[in-house]
Amino acid sequence: MLITNARVVTWEKPNRILDDHALSIESGLIADIGPSREMIERYPDSEKLDAGGQLLMPGNICAHTHFYSAFARGMAIPGRPPRDFPEILRKLWWPLDKSLQPEDVHYSALVSLVDAVRHGTTTLIDHHASPNAIPGSLDQIANAVDASGLRAVLCYEVTDRDGREKSQAGIAENLRFLERCESGEVAEGRVRATFGLHASLTLSDETLAACRAAVPDGTGFHIHVAEHEADEYDSLQKSGLRVVDRLQQHGILGPRTIVAHAIHVDAREIEWLKDSQTWVTHQPRSNMNNGVGVAEVESMLRAGVRVALGNDGFSNAMWEEWKTAYLVHKVWHRDPRRMPGDILAEIAVEETAGLAGSFFPGAALGSIRVGAHADLILVDYQATTPITADNLPWHIIFGFHDSMVTGTMVAGRLLMKDRQLLTLDEEKIAARARELSPGVWERYQSYVPAD
Ligand SMILES: [Zn+2]
Repeated sequence: MLITNARVVTWEKPNRILDDHALSIESGLIADIGPSREMIERYPDSEKLDAGGQLLMPGNICAHTHFYSAFARGMAIPGRPPRDFPEILRKLWWPLDKSLQPEDVHYSALVSLVDAVRHGTTTLIDHHASPNAIPGSLDQIANAVDASGLRAVLCYEVTDRDGREKSQAGIAENLRFLERCESGEVAEGRVRATFGLHASLTLSDETLAACRAAVPDGTGFHIHVAEHEADEYDSLQKSGLRVVDRLQQHGILGPRTIVAHAIHVDAREIEWLKDSQTWVTHQPRSNMNNGVGVAEVESMLRAGVRVALGNDGFSNAMWEEWKTAYLVHKVWHRDPRRMPGDILAEIAVEETAGLAGSFFPGAALGSIRVGAHADLILVDYQATTPITADNLPWHIIFGFHDSMVTGTMVAGRLLMKDRQLLTLDEEKIAARARELSPGVWERYQSYVPAD
């Protein structure tokens, strides 16, 4: 396929914007790039897609999300509102994830994936929990990802909060799915696996040791870290160690491991994260919603920690996350110089692509260059001021909306064209989700603890 007449944002380092360019795509990869006229002459027989002068960019990437949270939208929490994050877990997320049956898991994922295709998020790293439907749950999600045509990295969160039998079942589900993904063939290689852990505060030393012993070589972990002070207090009480020190001692950190949030870590913990080359993901919308504070991600970057951008189950509209990150650090520090657009782009584009790309080796992810994965979006943005490679982050922050995405492609296959979804039937998925969600809400009411 030849995409012609595009304004190409390469997101290379340094970034380039190429006016009236064309991309030729072969076997899921970008095969050639050049001025439209030359490319049309070079590939006269290729099927053509006229971009009509729109921006053609690498698809957005989400470094940490929860597809299973989709049915929480509009659900009432009984009694008084949760007063802090541990109460949010006890009153919202833990009774909700217990309420999910296999079909709910599948449709939660589909609902999230429709949102991702629509808003140009082409790779997502998910963290799943469904304690009453553990075995096979990652297949339910993988089947949804396969149907969508998107790219995803999946895991099941191991936790001791529901007893030993369920923590063992969580370990088994991760191992089973890791083995299934070993061939690299699940969803034609678009689905990969890692090993999920909930958080230090719901994991015993025994379970951490069992996970470490069970994980295959070269596989890392995906875990929440210090999202709230309670995680640090719990770890100190359990082990005398802060959370990151505890994970370090258990061999959980490393260049293949993702820690979400890292809000309440101290300077020594940041050093451990850097030394072990562990990835940190930043989710400011979720952090604001939970009232848990703001991660010092600029300091982490300065210290040499690799920081990527996730959404923690908020909408798969990553420019919304950009905007929130851009704003929250300014108000948090009362300093408008905090989190400038170029640093934000480094996190949201370069680092996030580095993390996601490590799961899909063999071709670059998150930039437009010859040989890279053809994961692309078309953006209908009518600029009213000059766009340059350098000022693009500020156009995204102040001018872009995720609804401006008109086309989404993954591995060279169009998933949305002219805002029409080509792989998923949005109406049918929404209708079935509306049928399933009242059952989830009803079961939730039976699990939610009284005040
Ligand atoms: Zn999370």
